[in-house]
Formats: sequence, C-alpha cells, structure tokens
Amino acid sequence: LEPAYAFMIRTRTPGGVVTPAQWLQLDAIASTYAERGLRITTRQAFQLHGVIKTELKATMQAINAALIDTLAACGDVNRNVAVAANPHLSPAHAAVQAQAAALSEHLLPNTRAYYEIWLDEERVASSGGEEEPIYGDRYLPRKFKIGFAIPPVNDVDVFAQDLGFIAILDEAGALLGYDVSVGGGMGASHGDPETYPRLGSVIGFIGPDQVTAVAEAVVTAQRDHGNREVRKRARLKYTIDDRGLDWFKSEVERRAGITFPPARPFAFSHNGDRFGWSEGEDGRLHLGLRIPAGRIYDGRLDGRGDAVRHLSGLRALARQLQDEGDGAEFRMTPNQNLVLARIPPALRARVDALCAEFGLDGWRHASPLRRNALACVAFPTCGLAMAEAERYLPELLDKVQALLERHGIGDAPIHLRISGCPNGCSRPYLGEIALVGRAPGRYNLMLGADHRGQRLNTLYRDNIDEPAILEALDPLFAAYARERGEGEGFGDFLVRSGAVAIPERDVRR
Ligand code: SF4
Repeated sequence: LEPAYAFMIRTRTPGGVVTPAQWLQLDAIASTYAERGLRITTRQAFQLHGVIKTELKATMQAINAALIDTLAACGDVNRNVAVAANPHLSPAHAAVQAQAAALSEHLLPNTRAYYEIWLDEERVASSGGEEEPIYGDRYLPRKFKIGFAIPPVNDVDVFAQDLGFIAILDEAGALLGYDVSVGGGMGASHGDPETYPRLGSVIGFIGPDQVTAVAEAVVTAQRDHGNREVRKRARLKYTIDDRGLDWFKSEVERRAGITFPPARPFAFSHNGDRFGWSEGEDGRLHLGLRIPAGRIYDGRLDGRGDAVRHLSGLRALARQLQDEGDGAEFRMTPNQNLVLARIPPALRARVDALCAEFGLDGWRHASPLRRNALACVAFPTCGLAMAEAERYLPELLDKVQALLERHGIGDAPIHLRISGCPNGCSRPYLGEIALVGRAPGRYNLMLGADHRGQRLNTLYRDNIDEPAILEALDPLFAAYARERGEGEGFGDFLVRSGAVAIPERDVRR
C-alpha cells in the first residue's frame, strides 16, 4: 500500500488574469482536490496544496478544462510572466499585458510530454522528433523569471527578475517601449558567499517590437553560458557577474541583431499594492483587496482567531461578476493580493456589500504594516523550509504592530517580508524589514531596503529568535518615531541615520 503522497500544483497565468468563470472553476477544483483552498503566489499564479497523487491527473485535467494550464510553471524554463497589476487600467496597461502574454506563449517549451502525460494526448514518436529552438536539448541551467513593470508602480519588483521590462510611456500615456533590466534574483544560501541576492542591471531601451527578440537573446545566452556545473551558481545573475555586464550586453545585442540605445528615465514610487476603489480611463472601476499571505480559504488563517470566509466570499463575487460584470476580471497581484477589475460602476454597491458580508474588506481597517506584509508558504508545505513564514505571519505582525504603536507610529507604511529559507520566494531582500528563516523559530533579520524595489536590505542580526528580533527593532522604531523626516520610509531612515549601510552595488538609481 503506497502512502498518500501529496503534491503542489502551480498554474501558469501570465499577469495573473482570470475570468469570473475561470475563478469559479478553480474554486471548485481546489475545493474538491486541494487542502486549504487557493493560494495566490508572488508571481501571480495559483498554487493548490495537498493534492493527493492518485488525484493529480483528474486535477490537471480539470484545470485544463478551465482553459488554464500548468505548463512551465515549474522547472528550468521561463516561469509565469509577471505583469504590473496597476488597477488604473489604461490602453498602455492593456498593451503591456498583451505583450507579456504573447511572450509567455513564445517561451513555452515545445514538448508534447505535458499533454501526453496529463491530457491523454497520443504519444509523439519516441524517436526524438520534437524540436526546442529556444531551450535546445538541455533546457536552461535553472529557472528563469520575467516581469513587466509600469512606473510609477513597481509591484512586480522588476529588479528581482532575471529579465525585467520597465514600460516607458509618453506624456499622453502611450507605450513607447521598455528599459531592459537583466540579472535580478533573490535566491541565496546561508553561509555561502558565492550566492547572493542581486538587483537587475539596466542595459538599454527597446521598442515594443523588439521584446521577443531581446527576451529570446537573453534566454539563449543564459542557456549557452549559464553555469551547469554548480547548481547554486546557475542563475543568470551569476553568469553576468562572472562574465561581466558589458560582455552580456554585447552577447544579447549580437543574438537579437540590435544595438541598445541608452535607457530612458523612469521613476518608481512604491512596490506595494493599492487597496480600495479606483477608476480606469474607460470609467470602469477596480477594487484592490488584501488577501493575507495570498491564502484564500474558509477557516482560521493561522489556526487561531475568528474563521474567515474568503473562499466563499470570492465565490459569491465571481458569480455576481459572471452574471453582471460585463467583462470584469480577477487580477492577482505580485504581492499576493487581488484586484477585482473592470467592474461596471452600477455594481459597486453590491460588490461592497459582498466584501463586507464575507470579511473581504480587511484592507479598510488593516494598518499599513499588515496591508503590505508578504510571506512565502514555508511549513508545512515547502520541503525547503527551515522556519515558519505564512503560518507565523499573523502572530509576528501583532507583535511588530504593538511595538510600532508603543512608539506612536502604528501608521508607518513599513514593508515587512518573511521567508522560511534564503531562496527568497517572498522577495525578502527587498523588504524594509525582512526575516529569513534559519531554523525553527530563528531568523536572519535584514533591514534597509526602500519601498520602491530599488535597494536591497542587508543583514542586521544573524540567526535570532522572536524576543531578540523585537529587542533589535525597538530602539530603531524609537529613533524613527523621533527623527524621521516628512514622508521618510523606515528603510530610507535607517540608511540616512547610519543604522545600516547598503553597498552601492545593491542600489539602482
Ligand atoms: Fe520554500 Fe524557501 Fe520558497 Fe519559502 S522561500 S517557499 S521556504 S523555498
């Protein structure tokens, strides 16, 4: 008798957009096959946890029936393409979203194995008849991540991506092209100085018609020159640091048949989400909802407190939007939240009432600290976890919030991120305060990032427990409350006051 092995399934949803009908199908699939509902990831995908091995195929087939796939959502290929979930939808936003979806399709592997294994497609001859013009016969040395940002919002943390596209708009808001960033990445290993988080480097500007060629050039350059000997050094950031940015830029230019003009100016104001109602240029409305740690289910979020009914609430909203939404969409954000997008103004009151009924209006009451916090899954689902993250987040936030309030700064818009290991799935190295798991109950305390995604944080205390974390933060909060400038972020204050020093290589201006 085989043990009931359980699996995680992750969708490929470029830009994190699904229709109300797809939402209802995913809800039904999660309710049938998964534990603890749906989870929104920091790459705008869904994860279903706890799917039993014998039900994997039925689950995959149900996902495909919802016109969603899981192809290349894991593995050493290009992963889900992330796109700014800017609720202020404009023609430029639609153009960027379409470009990202097309690039996601272009970079899919050609193999039919996915369809043969999961969808019962007839097997292609086993004589090796398939061709992979982009991935070749060995695929990439490691996973590869692409993100599209639309300033002033940097919700995708574009400098954390292997390949980032920063949209450049003209004064009328039309898309002119993109600044290209290469070599970002969050992953590191404790105690190994050969591994480190790195912000992407901007190498120039391209027109919208050059995106595919440049992306293919970057991916194939990494395919051919990435480190295949040492897996921990296999990401693009190390290829660039080992061979030099100038060499890499020339290699991309040669492969894409272009010469990069200089990058155009851009300015990010923040890398969080916007909550509440906003209006797009076409008069449609968008509602940003806070989803703590991206977890959508009915029950107690961390095994304590009152039970939430977020899965039921979003089901009711999806039904409403399916019936009367006239093209309304669900948009997952790279910060694990949700935007109900393109809502007809006539539905606003009904949507508000449903959000209130099911407790989905938490953003109205939550402090900025709670609204902006990010956590990876960690225990009990992730096999790499060294410490708690998602399950510990509510308790941690209670304690950090209490500390802030003791210093009279409970409304400080601090970005806190926690991950269960140094792989950095919650992009912790871009948190103003970050905890990176070392062992059960113990974390590295990292401080000093900005809230624009343009400066990494740095190690402040190594391998400490919760009392030591709070003890370390206490005098820093006191100083911040006393001495902060008008509108000055916590991370910016720590750097200005000299509490932490960030090397110039970890800053993008
Ligand atoms: Fe797992 Fe580590 Fe990623 Fe958290 S950061 S989900 S513990 S791999």
